[in-house]
Amino acid sequence: MSRTEDTEAAEAAEAAEVKNIAFVGLGNMGGPMAANLAAAGHRVVGHDLSADALAAAAERGVVAAASAVEAVADADVVITMLPAGRHVLALYRDGGLLAAAAPGTLFLDCSTIDVADARTAHEAVAAAGHRGLDAPVSGGVVGAEAGTLTFMAGGGAAEFAAAEPLLAVLGKRAVHCGAAGAGQAAKICNNMILGVSMVAVSEAFVLGESLGLTAQALFDVASTASGQCWALTANCPVPGPVPASPANRDYRPGFAAALMAKDLGLAAGAARATGVDAALGLRAAELYEEFAADGGAERDFSAIVQAIRERSGADITGVDAT
Ligand code: NAD
Repeated sequence: MSRTEDTEAAEAAEAAEVKNIAFVGLGNMGGPMAANLAAAGHRVVGHDLSADALAAAAERGVVAAASAVEAVADADVVITMLPAGRHVLALYRDGGLLAAAAPGTLFLDCSTIDVADARTAHEAVAAAGHRGLDAPVSGGVVGAEAGTLTFMAGGGAAEFAAAEPLLAVLGKRAVHCGAAGAGQAAKICNNMILGVSMVAVSEAFVLGESLGLTAQALFDVASTASGQCWALTANCPVPGPVPASPANRDYRPGFAAALMAKDLGLAAGAARATGVDAALGLRAAELYEEFAADGGAERDFSAIVQAIRERSGADITGVDAT
């Protein structure tokens, strides 16, 4: 065998290998991800503080553990999918996961957390003699169910290579973004673009309405001109131009405004910590924070167009699109 064939054979063997996986955090995202790993033939032992989440995962092939520490007992890989950095760090350290795992275990954190927390987690993982990778996702619950998530990973090349066969089960694409924390950095930078662009697109539609422009006319121009962006062409905030966008189903998510507020909060915190003058990112964070607190939390993030419209005066909503 040539060297390349050797490498390919080793990779194929790793890909085919059945892993013992501990999965902690079996919520909206973690539940279906753990189920997909179990369906792919891996032995998945899961834990969640919620008895309902644990029971739902158990029905989908995950072995239920009474505690997170119990889940990691025989694990080759420990995957966490938790709300925030404090949950990850608490479980790793005080919760005893790092101490309970066998030396060299791969700790794969897929939660969206603060970049600084991700780096602290990497340090704690390494200090305990393990291997770590931050690998947050985009693609939402639909992507988690369908196994079509995109992963953004931070950590060493060897750790990324070790995780890749599992990421291939869970998603359609995995990008190694750089060293510890780089995955989280890519995630919040991308979502800062998305949050700012959704506010910009929404303001443009409301301004267009106030000038007597139909939504379809603005869409027809901007979607093929320099205003083109995902917030406009895939997640259009007004009903009509893009039939599949959440605006056409009363803003049922999609991507909930609470999650956008969370991600923009992380981006704003990172911008402040590094002294970056992210004027629009910080403003978008404030707008989404207000929108979520004002009853919009569970709506698709594109519903912010309604808050902008309300703040602009109610008389501009009746432009006849015919
Ligand atoms: P979720 O609230 O549905 O799930 C989190 C789960 O963690 C809950 O079931 C909770 O009981 C469990 N949990 C919390 N602390 C725990 C502990 N100490 N031990 C065991 N279980 C614990 O949230 P989600 O929507 O699944 O999101 C998870 C992560 O994925 C978040 O960081 C989120 O920002 C990120 N994310 C979510 C989406 C999405 O569309 N939902 C998209 C991309 C990224």
